[in-house]
Amino acid sequence: MNENSLLQFDRQHIWHPYAAVNSELPLFAVQRAEGVIIQLMDGRQLIDGMSSWWSAIHGYNHPRLNQAATQQLAQMSHVMFGGLTHEPAVRLAQQLVQLLPAPLDKIFFADSGSVAVEVAMKMAVQYQQARGEQQRYKFATIRAGYHGDTWHAMSVCDPVTGMHSLFAKGLPVQYFLPQPCVKFDEIWHDEAIAPLEALLAEKGHEIAALILEPIVQGAGGMYFYSPQYLVQAKALCEQYGILLIFDEIATGFGRTGKLFAYQHAQVLPDIMCLGKALTGGYLTLSATITSQQIAEIICSGEAKCFMHGPTFMANPLACAIAAESIQLLLDSDWQSNVQRIEQQFKQELHAAQMLSAVKEVRVLGAIGVIEMKQPVNMVTLQPRFVKNGVWVRPFGKLVYLMPPFIIQPHELSQLIAGTIQALREEYGNL
Ligand code: PMP
Repeated sequence: MNENSLLQFDRQHIWHPYAAVNSELPLFAVQRAEGVIIQLMDGRQLIDGMSSWWSAIHGYNHPRLNQAATQQLAQMSHVMFGGLTHEPAVRLAQQLVQLLPAPLDKIFFADSGSVAVEVAMKMAVQYQQARGEQQRYKFATIRAGYHGDTWHAMSVCDPVTGMHSLFAKGLPVQYFLPQPCVKFDEIWHDEAIAPLEALLAEKGHEIAALILEPIVQGAGGMYFYSPQYLVQAKALCEQYGILLIFDEIATGFGRTGKLFAYQHAQVLPDIMCLGKALTGGYLTLSATITSQQIAEIICSGEAKCFMHGPTFMANPLACAIAAESIQLLLDSDWQSNVQRIEQQFKQELHAAQMLSAVKEVRVLGAIGVIEMKQPVNMVTLQPRFVKNGVWVRPFGKLVYLMPPFIIQPHELSQLIAGTIQALREEYGNL
């Protein structure tokens, strides 16, 4: 298919994320991707700064992941999980049980991050019902969070930057707390937890769970907050009989410098959601994980089981690739890679601070964020990134980089320089 007809058909018939039909936003056709390079149909090669939205941590077209996929294909790509099981699911579950501390060892595999969040929320409600707490069906969360696009996941996304106003009449109303005011590196002070304390004292009896992205708020604001917030939140949840859900869909598998972000605080949630990098960016798969004790309570309730079971649950192809992706991560020196990326971001990304259109530059692990003063114009800015040989996809005021962990120092320098150059061209030296 030639590039023009492909783009033309796409524009007429296919939706893209958060886009209008027949959108005028720039669209680029990809021929192939390998390592950290995305090659467009017109031959241009771009250094990937996005890891396809946090997922492709090993880069693209990885021989070991390809092999895991083809080996599994030769057996079966899918069978239903009702009444059947298979080695890929069991192997992957064994790895997760080993990686996660006790008591997190009961795993529910689902299709996507949003569904993992729905599953976690349903688990929390079924748990509370089984304990005789039928009035606890609400959720608490912090502002500027993001947990997915399905109905209840959307209800705990930031009410302003999320989609609340559009769906306000139908969405359940949840309790929103201010974003933790103590940043990752700042000294803790107890006022930061006061709003949660006050909410739970007043409304704790209505709340099934508190859901948080630990340490790093992703799509809602790319904000890094104090580990101490998690320590305090955990204690309060225990005090008020509220479950704590950590959405590690974006942070899981090394991105923040720890294998999982909860390790910055050494606080364990009652329920954890994983997705995105779980399959190294090959296929969609997620996992919602809880403890024996919570699972038993859920299953002691009226339904005597957990009420969820997607068609593609524990898809063998996705599980086989995920198992290999985890092994690949553990076999690699991922921690040094992430530290190296962090150091380089700290040294090179701060050059963006020279532009007066930039509000702040911040870095944690393999995440580099340039926060602009105003929302960017994607129509003009996106082609400038491409012209400068980098794939960067900002949203709102946030221009952020989270490359595959395998990116080499000279490639990362090119990525950072290309990003800053595109901003310079867009804003001049203003
Ligand atoms: N939670 C978090 C923290 C996320 O970043 C995302 C995806 N950006 C989701 C949930 C939803 O995942 P998915 O897009 O796979 O449904």
